[in-house]
Amino acid sequence: MAGEDCIFCQIVAGEVPANIVESDERTVTFMDIRPATRGHVLVIPRRHSRDLLEVADEDLRACMAAARRAAARARDRLGADGVNLLNSSGGAAWQTVFHFHVHVIPRYEDDPLRLPWTPEPGDDEEISAAADVLRG
Ligand code: AMP
Ligand code: ZN
Repeated sequence: MAGEDCIFCQIVAGEVPANIVESDERTVTFMDIRPATRGHVLVIPRRHSRDLLEVADEDLRACMAAARRAAARARDRLGADGVNLLNSSGGAAWQTVFHFHVHVIPRYEDDPLRLPWTPEPGDDEEISAAADVLRG
């Protein structure tokens, strides 16, 4: 679903308005219209790819570099105390726009955002078993 069917491709093409903060030859960084916190931006590659598993290495690199610049801007200009980077790949992971993007979510000491996961100690055996499977 690229080109005219993809809202983020339309933003890249200038066919849909977006509040663009920064762009370079590979990426565009713009404000999320439903921000989780003040200054929440999305970094996307200009070239369409569906998700983390599809994005080309060089586009991924460029997006991560742009995400880091956005994080520094949030710290320097908005006074963010921290930043969460978030990528959802696949509907099961809550991806809703199927053009690869990285959320850059500024965090403030007393902000009310609660990501839906509270880290708790894991089971060592289960962790090791998953590591074994991941290593192959
Ligand atoms: P995800 O659920 O990870 O796929 O994130 C998609 C994000 O895109 C959501 O946070 C939306 O608020 C945001 N979004 C969708 N359409 C637009 C748009 N036209 N301009 C800016 N942000 C958008
Ligand atoms: Zn697209």
